[in-house]
Amino acid sequence: MDIKALLKMSQQEIKDAALGLNGAREIVGSTGKSSVIVQGTVPFVLMAHMDTYYCDEPKTIIYERGRLSVPKNSVAGVGGDDRCGCWTLFKAADWERSPTLLFCEDEELCGTGSSPGLHLHDWSEYKCFVEVDGPGYGVFYSGSTSNSTLDSFMENELGLTKQLTSYNDIAEICRPGNPPGITLGAAYYNQHDASREWISEFGLVVQLEVLKQMVRVIGRLDWSVVPQVAKSRWRTGSCYSAYSHGLGHEGERVKGKKPELGEQATVKIINEPTEKHSYDYGAMGECELAPSCSGCKWEEACGYDIYAA
Ligand SMILES: [Zn+2]
Repeated sequence: MDIKALLKMSQQEIKDAALGLNGAREIVGSTGKSSVIVQGTVPFVLMAHMDTYYCDEPKTIIYERGRLSVPKNSVAGVGGDDRCGCWTLFKAADWERSPTLLFCEDEELCGTGSSPGLHLHDWSEYKCFVEVDGPGYGVFYSGSTSNSTLDSFMENELGLTKQLTSYNDIAEICRPGNPPGITLGAAYYNQHDASREWISEFGLVVQLEVLKQMVRVIGRLDWSVVPQVAKSRWRTGSCYSAYSHGLGHEGERVKGKKPELGEQATVKIINEPTEKHSYDYGAMGECELAPSCSGCKWEEACGYDIYAA
């Protein structure tokens, strides 16, 4: 699929296209939203989220010397987060040997999309999860969803640079007992900022080559599951997007200062419980009740190792 065409597609259009892939089926999470899963032949799961931070898709894409962006006055950003990930999954669908693909719905709405509850499925045939959804390329993002076996493979065998984790769908799925997961840099930059977000076309190619190498050698990764971690330390960066977005796609944006890396702060719910959230902040943090956000208390936010989602 052409990246420029994909950037202009809605979440539903991407979902329909994913459902059109050979062997695709829907898999429903605990919030009732569904991911699209396409069974592969290589034992890892390649993931991306189909929504973006913005309310709309861009009307015009500018291509200039390998950079994809939008005109200065565009309300919608280019949406590389995470259309770059979706593009990668569609590419992988054409490979002779492909990982299992998982297209997730509504990651940007405080993680209340299709991913909550998916950790209850049997993922035991897989070695790891890779969500293609992070800024830059040649980097991966690791944290409580990963373990030393996977981190070492990414760093010492693939030669990628390890960075701090951010919240996305793997935080919902890579719970203790499930295979580990990391986020792979998806060649976008300045996500969640319409006038500054851009995509590196070159980075997209590099990132595909990383995944092709993973397809070739993933069998060497020791079979491993995420080590048990204390529940209170489990979630990192939960609801960062709700914090960042205000009410995500539907509501009024909450104003306030952007937190610093690793900043600790309290996150207080103003409106709850609905699928639309408004937060007084603070900063992003974590909460053991956060999987659906509805009804979560947010009494305290630990906020370690958190950085831009
Ligand atoms: Zn994302």
